[in-house]
Amino acid sequence: MAVKSFHPPQRILMGPGPSDVSPRVLGALARPTIGHLDPMFVSLMDEMKELLKYAFQTKNELTMPVSAPGSAGMETCFVNLIEPGDKVIVCQNGVFGGRMKENVERCGGIAVMVQDDWGRAVDPQKVEDALKANSDAKVVAFVHAETSTGAMSDAKTLTALAHKYGCLVIVDAVTSLAGSPLKVDEWEIDAIYSGTQKCLSCTPGLSPVSFSTRALEKIKNRKHKVQSWFMDLNLVMSYWGGSAKRAYHHTAPINALYGLHESLVMLQEEGLENSWARHTKNHLALRAGLEAMGLKFVVPESERLPQLNAISIPDGVDDAAVRSTLLNDYQLEIGAGLGVMAGKVWRFGLMGYASNQSNILICLGALDDVLGRLKAPVQHGVAVAAAQKVLAG
Ligand SMILES: *Cc1c(COP(=O)(O)O)cnc(C)c1O
Repeated sequence: MAVKSFHPPQRILMGPGPSDVSPRVLGALARPTIGHLDPMFVSLMDEMKELLKYAFQTKNELTMPVSAPGSAGMETCFVNLIEPGDKVIVCQNGVFGGRMKENVERCGGIAVMVQDDWGRAVDPQKVEDALKANSDAKVVAFVHAETSTGAMSDAKTLTALAHKYGCLVIVDAVTSLAGSPLKVDEWEIDAIYSGTQKCLSCTPGLSPVSFSTRALEKIKNRKHKVQSWFMDLNLVMSYWGGSAKRAYHHTAPINALYGLHESLVMLQEEGLENSWARHTKNHLALRAGLEAMGLKFVVPESERLPQLNAISIPDGVDDAAVRSTLLNDYQLEIGAGLGVMAGKVWRFGLMGYASNQSNILICLGALDDVLGRLKAPVQHGVAVAAAQKVLAG
């Protein structure tokens, strides 16, 4: 039997990513492919860098998308900045801090772990204690928006602390970019990476990164070659660099970059501050609905992410049954718990194009129905109205 074309269903993506992709971005992906050195494509690359500088709020020359998902942006930061023997303070309050440790060790570095409870922000006091106890540390790495738990850490304070003790910072902004205030230059962040499938309304597979001149100094003065040929920024810059002469490094994912360009044009049209405000307003509406049902947030209010809402699963409710019923009956995807939170929490994403009123109301109505059918111990028939009240206000 011949395999036929694949036609995916139209889902609503309200998990930890990918999130709903804007139809404008999907349309851009289907435009004609041109060469990766075509002058028209080079001008798109130049616009892309400017648009990314706006999204990151930076003037950093080295701001571009890595041709691979967020994890590759993470790895690009670590392999370029960490040399064998370098000591790195790694903050862990969820899944992604653990991956930073893996990266440090695979670069031959020494990871000094600062652990916080899952569901809490990184504690600056613990980071300062670690910096005092490790005066030879070179880098502090932390996750701005921990998607595995829904906790936001204070990137400005953590960066200032690192600098006070002579360290550079590597910041994971995969989920924060465009969803929460993030100011790379004002906060003096040295190296940062993000992803396209969270709050940028774009497809997965690209990782915007940005490096300060301090970070570039460190990269230029390395004693050892970067162990990854593909991610060595000294080589990548022959293609993405500022000069008019662009040389082949790898074949850029041309159409994927059309998509990112379109999503960044949309961000510019909306305005970065308006995008942050939309994520917050929609979070407050979803929260009102979930709390009206009697559901509880995992993260304390002052440390919550607007774009990722982690909720404790009520006792006796079948996690997998709820998620599969939402998917099958409502085409709605929400996220399961990760790591130590597996089976204990649901993660409701409100990211990028998915952060809109109709998704909130569909989600609350669907959840109300499904939990009702399972006779879960929650308040029924109140969630949608509670959210509507916030949306109207
Ligand atoms: C999603 C995510 C990543 C990984 O991004 P991929 O595109 O899945 O590789 C890294 N860090 C955080 C905080 C994330 O949410």
